[in-house]
Amino acid sequence: MRRAPRCVFCEIAAGRAPAALVFEDASTLALMDIAPAARGHVLVITREHFETLYELSAEAAQGVALTARRVALALRSSPTGCLSSNRTVPPPTRPYPTIMCT
Ligand SMILES: [Zn+2]
Repeated sequence: MRRAPRCVFCEIAAGRAPAALVFEDASTLALMDIAPAARGHVLVITREHFETLYELSAEAAQGVALTARRVALALRSSPTGCLSSNRTVPPPTRPYPTIMCT
């Protein structure tokens, strides 16, 4: 599995950094954002490291979409919205594809 040094999401996926997980499967994780933009802000990420959405494999994209749908359904009673992003994660600043559901 592809990992990147000093990537916080790779550290979380490997179980070496703490995270408030709300869902996980073989290819994705859904976790509470440490700097939420709104109450219930959940990030959906891949277990495997990808720099941007453009590099995401079809299988990884499918996994992210299915997990985002699952999170959105769980948040259905709240004013839920999901956005995709080539997110910048400090430190170090690096892009990372995410889907954010709030
Ligand atoms: Zn990573």
